[in-house]
Amino acid sequence: MNIAVLTSGGDAPGMNAAVRAVVRSAESLGHHVYGVKDGYQGLIDDDMILLDHQSVSGMLSSGGTFLGTARVPKFHDVAYQKKAIEHMKKRDIEALIAIGGDGTYRGAMDLSKLGFKVIGLPGTIDNDIAGTDYTIGFSTAVETIVDALDKLRDTSQSHQRCSIVEVMGRSCGDLALFAGICGGAEFIVTPENPVKKEDIIETLKKHKEKGRRHAIIVVTENMFDVHALAKEITELSGFASRATVLGYIQRGGHPDSEDRILASRMGTYATELLNDGIHGVVVGIRDSQMVHLPFANVVGFPRPKNPLYKLYKKIA
Ligand code: ATP
Repeated sequence: MNIAVLTSGGDAPGMNAAVRAVVRSAESLGHHVYGVKDGYQGLIDDDMILLDHQSVSGMLSSGGTFLGTARVPKFHDVAYQKKAIEHMKKRDIEALIAIGGDGTYRGAMDLSKLGFKVIGLPGTIDNDIAGTDYTIGFSTAVETIVDALDKLRDTSQSHQRCSIVEVMGRSCGDLALFAGICGGAEFIVTPENPVKKEDIIETLKKHKEKGRRHAIIVVTENMFDVHALAKEITELSGFASRATVLGYIQRGGHPDSEDRILASRMGTYATELLNDGIHGVVVGIRDSQMVHLPFANVVGFPRPKNPLYKLYKKIA
């Protein structure tokens, strides 16, 4: 069988390790793998290369995605989806493994509805996909944020400041939650755990009165204008405050060991599913076990609120 693999949406550390696992496990089962360039754009443009054992050498530890990724709005159009299938069929490609986030899954589900065999792998730092405990790239991004929080704590403590740190995550607060717990944040403000500005300022005032020297607030993007919040905290709480927007640095870096293992397991599991004739599903990890679920059970479904919020409230 010829299998295509692509990476799409925001890049995430571990995408390369997942492609490597697809290529090597497929080869060991006697299949061939084409790498599609720049996500769905490569399917539209017929831009694919045959990958083999050697061409993914060194990919386990590399960040980003060597196949490239892109946001391709025109892929919503069924005419381009049909063109993508034509280009794959021309090369006798029978199945596609699409690695990305929720949008990537929507594109993959559309191809599946058109009768093409597709499997989705969750590749996004945001951990915002239903049906899996973790996505490829999340663990590495948490490490990156924790490293930044540790450094900001050093300077906040020295200057008796409050640091506000904005992290990615869109509608999912897991990056802020996990990193906030690891970095000992006083406040974790996320879509699942919104906190009023007035409450933050009141609590900080009390902290100041008790003689605390610093505070860290981790905020998911779009919850606050963090620079305006820093100004108000400085004026009203007694803590001089500075905002740091971590931005795209969260997407980069070598995948950590958790992401390398997760990507290797998921990539291998996906090819084994195709080998067993299973498709139209997304791969996930639940309670440390590989699982697969139909696209329709995952796409558009919210993740349940993470139970770690209870822990954070007890130790913040
Ligand atoms: P991340 O979470 O990292 O942003 P993502 O996969 O959600 O990743 P998107 O940009 O939302 O990123 O989606 C990736 C691509 O998937 C889009 O650029 C588009 O080509 C395709 N896509 C998104 N939504 C749809 C849809 N409803 N129908 C068809 N294709 C879609």
